[in-house]
Amino acid sequence: MQFNEKIVAWYQQHGRKDLPWQQAKGVVKPYHVWLSEIMLQQTQVVKVKDYFCRFITELPTLKQLAEADEQQVLSLWSGLGYYNRARNLHKAAQICAEEHQRQLPENLNALMALPGIGRSTAAAIMSLAYSLPEPIMDGNVKRVFARHFLVDGEPNKSATLKQFWELAEQHKAHKNPAAYTQGLMDLGAMVCTKHQPQCEKCPISSSCLAKAKGVIANYPEKKRKVVQQEVDLYCLLHERADQIAVELRTDNGIWSQLWFVPSFDSEQDLLKVADDAKHLFSLTHKLTHRILQLHVYSSTKIDNSKHQNWIKPAELKHKPHPKALEHIITQYKNQHSI
Ligand code: SF4
Repeated sequence: MQFNEKIVAWYQQHGRKDLPWQQAKGVVKPYHVWLSEIMLQQTQVVKVKDYFCRFITELPTLKQLAEADEQQVLSLWSGLGYYNRARNLHKAAQICAEEHQRQLPENLNALMALPGIGRSTAAAIMSLAYSLPEPIMDGNVKRVFARHFLVDGEPNKSATLKQFWELAEQHKAHKNPAAYTQGLMDLGAMVCTKHQPQCEKCPISSSCLAKAKGVIANYPEKKRKVVQQEVDLYCLLHERADQIAVELRTDNGIWSQLWFVPSFDSEQDLLKVADDAKHLFSLTHKLTHRILQLHVYSSTKIDNSKHQNWIKPAELKHKPHPKALEHIITQYKNQHSI
């Protein structure tokens, strides 16, 4: 059996077939594959399942996504992070509605021309939804390829990527492309895992070069650590009658178009707006490239120059907001009762 045939055979016996975006009765919707692939780019399957089901319940078709308000799309994304994924998803749906008869195009290049869709996501849609033999290359597949074919270099460096894509082209499956794509992803997620791969359960172990040489732990090469920048943010928490004041962040910085408590770059700036402000607590919130130190103050003075909404914490689910806001409210609730 060839490499791709072994993966397909393994998938048919052991792969995942009950994920919410895998339809029963063999009908896979391109919209579902696309949405799940975008959500899975930075997030684990367990977390994505709930978000996916909620999203699809509220916006069941690409047409409805295209016609939705951006605030509704961001609300459905609240807590998933990397909000540009949601903005691009929305923009891409609008382009499909205008230029592709409200469908995702059945063409790799046309898919890659849409915002937020790279080569691997486009190939996943082509193979999983349209059963065409386009190879994918996501994080799980890179790990399997790096080990099995002994590919040197950091996985996301262009020279390494070139090797991955060449290998992917050489080994793509013309028969059962959807099972091959899902099988590769499942093998990386379930067997050839980052730590402690289960080689005894692996269908390609007899040809795996890293296993043969006893160097599995060295592949794929570790990414160089990103130095995270520390940023202080001074946050004002106004509370009245079980409600807190939140405002829409309209600049292009972090959390653009999400709701958050009024915040400032320095304590002086905060005190200019609320000179009675008292420091309540500070907490750390980690983003990919930044570590935020959130210093939370309470005040009774409201800056009426900004448009603010008073909401109960339970109503937050209707407003797109970053996870950090929930952390602030939880800590505040532990000290007060709202
Ligand atoms: S044999 Fe082990 S290291 Fe090689 S691909 Fe399979 S699980 Fe990964």
